[in-house]
Amino acid sequence: MSLVSLRDLHVTFRTRDRTVHAVNGVDLDLAPGETLCILGESGSGKSVTLRALMKLLPRFAEVRGGIQVAGQDVARMSESQLTDFRGRDVAMIFQEPMTALDPVFTIGRQISETVQRHERLSRTAAEARALELLELVQIPSAKRRLAAYPHELSGGLRQRAMIAVALACKPRLLLADEPTTALDATVQIQVLLLLRDLQRQLGMGVIFVTHDLGVAGEIADRVAVMYAGKVVEEGPVAGLMRGPLHPYAQGLLGATVHPSMRGKRLTTIPGAPPALDVAPAACAFAPRCEHAHDACLRGVPAMRGPEPARQARCVLVPEAA
Ligand code: ADP
Ligand code: MG
Repeated sequence: MSLVSLRDLHVTFRTRDRTVHAVNGVDLDLAPGETLCILGESGSGKSVTLRALMKLLPRFAEVRGGIQVAGQDVARMSESQLTDFRGRDVAMIFQEPMTALDPVFTIGRQISETVQRHERLSRTAAEARALELLELVQIPSAKRRLAAYPHELSGGLRQRAMIAVALACKPRLLLADEPTTALDATVQIQVLLLLRDLQRQLGMGVIFVTHDLGVAGEIADRVAVMYAGKVVEEGPVAGLMRGPLHPYAQGLLGATVHPSMRGKRLTTIPGAPPALDVAPAACAFAPRCEHAHDACLRGVPAMRGPEPARQARCVLVPEAA
């Protein structure tokens, strides 16, 4: 059974002066223990999709479609069910650790309180778990760091502390929203490798949002590329790196600094992503696509591909015979 199943997810933000069709029919599945990377440029709906999985969108957001996590219907959860669900079944880590950490409490206290909120544990047992978690995320001098406040830690250690809080109750699903983007390159790699180790050790399913193809190459089993609120390509990471099917994914790969690109010219994708004040009625990438023709403007192409596991939303993609 899928750990995550999104079916035709739509999210629209309507305010007095503006409408944004942020997510326009996303279907995604994640198997237990699998790592999926969602790739795409800024504004393509990656964060909104993740937030929908935890019902963390603002109240005024219009959300439609099926959202199942660990066999539960997230859209129908009550506030008290959500409190149990968040942290215990699914946890999220962010680019900026201070969005998740509370500046007025020590790291140790934040972890032990998270544990006690979900599990009947004595204070001593919860404190022991906090120490175990800081060791798990490889914070040096963990025992001493329990008494530290978030501002006393470096950026990299703060990121590790946030991961420790997220893992406090060993969730089955970890959602990661560009958690390494703000870090220096060397620290970024350390945190990525840590996340990969933790995923294997704990057998968690992970959905990892990034705009960095190199990051996806390091940790993903599967990749979903988003454009204008839709998945435009999906498949195993190796296939996407070797030969992306969708012209947008080809453009992304061409614009990436990567060892496999050595000696090749870096390219950029001309034009800009569409305004999302109306939901796209045709291929949203067509205005920027050098291969676009009439059929691309006639309607939204369906996903198709050379094999069931590799699909793209483009009329030019060859289909299985
Ligand atoms: P990204 O792929 O960069 O993570 P997002 O999912 O954050 O993109 O955003 C997708 C679109 O939804 C953007 O146009 C963004 O401005 C809009 N959006 C996101 N959150 C809100 C909100 N709370 N209110 C209004 N618009 C929002
Ligand atoms: Mg985002």
